[in-house]
Amino acid sequence: PMLDYQKDSIRSKNFMEAANAVMPGGVTANIKYFDPHPLAMKEARGSKVIDMDDREYIDYVMGYGALVTGHGDERVKKAMTEYIENHGTWLFGTPHALEIEMGKRIQTHFPSMELLRYTNSGTEATLLALRMAAAYTGKHKVAKFEGHYHGGYDQMLVSVSPSMKEAGEEREPNSLPESKGIHPSHLRNTVVLPFNDLKACERILTEHRDEIGAVMIEPIQSGFIPPDLSFMKGLRQITKELNMVLIFDEVKTGYRTCLGGVQSIYGVTPDLTALGKAVGGGFPFGVVGGKRDILMQSAPSHGSDVFDASQSKNKTAQDVLFHSGTYNGHPMILAAGMAVLDILEKEMDVLLQRTNQLKQGIQEIFDRYQVNGKVIGMGSIFSVVLSPKGKIRNYRDLQKSDLATRKEIDFALLKRGIYLKPLNRYSVSTAHTEEDIRTTLTAYEEAIKEVYGG
Ligand code: PMP
Repeated sequence: PMLDYQKDSIRSKNFMEAANAVMPGGVTANIKYFDPHPLAMKEARGSKVIDMDDREYIDYVMGYGALVTGHGDERVKKAMTEYIENHGTWLFGTPHALEIEMGKRIQTHFPSMELLRYTNSGTEATLLALRMAAAYTGKHKVAKFEGHYHGGYDQMLVSVSPSMKEAGEEREPNSLPESKGIHPSHLRNTVVLPFNDLKACERILTEHRDEIGAVMIEPIQSGFIPPDLSFMKGLRQITKELNMVLIFDEVKTGYRTCLGGVQSIYGVTPDLTALGKAVGGGFPFGVVGGKRDILMQSAPSHGSDVFDASQSKNKTAQDVLFHSGTYNGHPMILAAGMAVLDILEKEMDVLLQRTNQLKQGIQEIFDRYQVNGKVIGMGSIFSVVLSPKGKIRNYRDLQKSDLATRKEIDFALLKRGIYLKPLNRYSVSTAHTEEDIRTTLTAYEEAIKEVYGG
């Protein structure tokens, strides 16, 4: 039966009212909110989520991409429980075996990571990468791309405002605060570049060549807008020439575009890479890896005799790049991450094939109903953009697309048991079956008919 959003999600609505008394806006992350109220979930298995009103949906949010093997995968669960049984604890706070094992396996897929460090989120990974770049180059300004997300901290919450009014020229975007409370210094220290526009990037970066030490990019914008190959190659070349550390934020795309991320598809090697989401299998996790010289800055002293202070070759704090964290390299999460990798190494082909089936099916529906819709993305993440424009190349193209109708389609899909946070991207998992894909496509056609009155 079709959902009447307000009537059939009454428990979610009541829940959100109660949640408002505990948390601002009733949510623990702003992204979880949407009007008129989000659906609150109570159970999820495999590809499905069940909300508080007992309605079942095929889930395409998948923990914002983190659950690449679906909800509650038994193999991941087993790896974690066995770890506790075999080792007696879930946290050492010392070096331990999985730190190397997991690292070596990540390196087989990301050979650019000559050395790596673990963090507890994608946010921490990009933050650490920026510190490493600043220390390495001695240059403290950073460049990022308009509309790219790297985590919710001040330095990177600089680029776009919802009203594109103050956004500036397309080829020279302004630095704008994306939140209240951002210190104005960040607007000076974070330079915003236009994605997919090599000439403009070259001009802006050259202008700031003595100040910018790092260029961070989502190599596929928002996980679904791919760059031109010439843009990626050119950016690699320019950053090298200008002594800037090129950082690929592959938090969304790692393990998802393909196991080795966008860098393996494009054959462009960054100096540093940040990973998160899928790599931690749905647990808080991140990785920073890259060039040996850059990573080695955070190595504490080696070869010093700690028992003889007078002989100590300990570096002073200023000589070492600080990186610590109570939970870094958490054994349970590494165990989960290894299990995810085991699964993906076997099932990646099927996952990509299923996603393609879904993407092609949706595109075919758009074409058949003569809707200006495009399915874009690579690997197991994609999105749907409604726009008469030929190719979606950057954030501004996306903002100019028909977001209102896209939202209507998303609600029409929700009514039919397809869960996606309105306007978000689709993340497919190895738990999605062929039947899920067929069910989704049937719902999609119905949704298009409803929205376009076909
Ligand atoms: N970088 C990118 C590209 C992301 O998509 C995200 C999360 N959406 C982050 C960084 C931040 O990761 P986390 O939410 O794990 O802190």
